[in-house]
Amino acid sequence: MTTGKINVSVENIFPLIKKFLYSDHEIFLRELVSNATDATLKLKHLTAIGEAKVEYGNPIIEVKIDKEGKKLHIIDQGLGMTAEEVEKYINQVAFSGAEEFLDKYKDSAKDTGIIGHFGLGFYSAFMVADKVEIITKSFKDEPAAHWTCDGSPEFTLEPSDKTDRGTEIILHIANDSTEFLEESRIRELLSKYNKFMPVPIKFGTRTETLPKPEDAADDYKAETIEVDNIINNPNPAWTKQPADLTKEDYQDFYRELYPMQFEEPLFNIHLNVDHPFNLTGILYFPKLSKDLQIQKDKIQLYQNQVFVTDNVEGIVPEFLTMLRGVIDSPDIPLNVSRSYLQADGNVKKISNYITRKVADKLKSLFNENREDFEQKWNDIKIVLEYGMLSEDKFYEKAGAFVLYPTVDGKFYTIDELKENFKDKQTDKDGKLVVLYAQNQDAQHSYIEAAQAKGYEVLLLDSPIVSHLIQKLEGDNENLTFVRVDSDHIDNLIKKEDSAISKLSEEEQEKLKVAVQEIVPSTTYTVQLEALDSDAAPFIITQPEFMRRMKEMSMSGGGGMFGMGNFPEM
Ligand code: ADP
Ligand code: MG
Repeated sequence: MTTGKINVSVENIFPLIKKFLYSDHEIFLRELVSNATDATLKLKHLTAIGEAKVEYGNPIIEVKIDKEGKKLHIIDQGLGMTAEEVEKYINQVAFSGAEEFLDKYKDSAKDTGIIGHFGLGFYSAFMVADKVEIITKSFKDEPAAHWTCDGSPEFTLEPSDKTDRGTEIILHIANDSTEFLEESRIRELLSKYNKFMPVPIKFGTRTETLPKPEDAADDYKAETIEVDNIINNPNPAWTKQPADLTKEDYQDFYRELYPMQFEEPLFNIHLNVDHPFNLTGILYFPKLSKDLQIQKDKIQLYQNQVFVTDNVEGIVPEFLTMLRGVIDSPDIPLNVSRSYLQADGNVKKISNYITRKVADKLKSLFNENREDFEQKWNDIKIVLEYGMLSEDKFYEKAGAFVLYPTVDGKFYTIDELKENFKDKQTDKDGKLVVLYAQNQDAQHSYIEAAQAKGYEVLLLDSPIVSHLIQKLEGDNENLTFVRVDSDHIDNLIKKEDSAISKLSEEEQEKLKVAVQEIVPSTTYTVQLEALDSDAAPFIITQPEFMRRMKEMSMSGGGGMFGMGNFPEM
């Protein structure tokens, strides 16, 4: 038996660890199961390259509660440690063995999915335990080792009689952390952090009913057996190749992620990149109905299949936080502050990549099946329009698939709009006039009047449309958007003056005076219409500039792109 002092620069690091290492004590389990997973994947790699001459088999990880003994066990069948390795990897706090392993096997182990990073994960055990034991047997032909530490810098290391390969971590749960001896609490943590980890994780057993044999007798009684209760899916959809997945697979995975979500997603985007950074994932466009509050915090961030957070702010561009799904990247720094994250160059690259990829996917969906895309337009437009306003990179690509619907159900892209309207709807300066309504019912008489004149009217009814219009006008010099009930409609070059009012000139004048008297505000004008339609005999309009002034003052001027000011749907 040896005794010694753990190699730390501060005299007693444990109180510090307990307080400051992670604000969330519960993540100790994530760290320990990650280490068990790393140990298993390292062995897999070493057997694969022939360096470990042992049978890899079908290793699992087990998490076990000993309520009476107030202990929590995490047991793996991974590569284990020799006594010397325990000295090296455990006693040297912040000496990350995972990094050393990856360094040593740089080229061959690149894609092994090994998690460890910081060399402090193991010590997070002391956030919930006042004593920790490691019993470990290496795959190398050496005696097993037993390490014990009660939270002071002193430890003991002695031989153990463990014969099977792998490591068992025993946490003697502290009195202030007994919640971690509750089955429901551990189950909750496993399903939060470990649901998609790559090695099967056993937590208890469950009974399974055996299938009824074909030659079963009449009085056959169903037989049950106890099987391992595996709490994770080691091969989640995002780790597979898009070509190997069907539409059903994507939908099934959506339900796996959101068991309480009954509505099917509209479509998914499979992210898959390994250069210049590593990132996989699947994003889903949910059906965003109008009365639904924007739900953020629906995208889950993983690192090598370990759940990290569902706050992806800064990693996913803001407009896409309305989507759902998972992102997995070993290149997003774990356990670091948000401000650091936002300043990290890699993270910005990731965000840009996601934006680009989403735009590309939308473009190909549009090109593959335009009709389907048009049908879904109302459910996705708010995300896309918001994206055009907030991300220039998205705006640049959006021209290829963003649609402008007409009141009668046609859809134009911006280019089609220009092409279609160029001979029909231009003002005196030759600018293309895009008439639009925001509310088909309330503005129906204006719409009809415009249609009677041969104009097409768009229906732009999302809450951020006036901002979008400003942007479009700013970027397209020859384009002007005019609300269908504005006075500009008269400035359009009329094709022909065929329509004639049913009223005589005298009657028209009288009517105009009468109506003007009852219209309260001087900001409106009364126009008599050429009536060859069922529209009203006169139209009350508000000059476009007055309307815009009012809208601008209501939206509070600038700063409208922050999510905080994003209109509620
Ligand atoms: P990291 O995982 O970032 O390397 P940790 O503090 O979590 O840092 O673990 C330190 C080291 O201890 C690991 O790199 C590994 O070498 C060793 N280790 C921890 N847990 C196990 C385990 N279950 N099996 C084998 N080695 C382990
Ligand atoms: Mg670790």
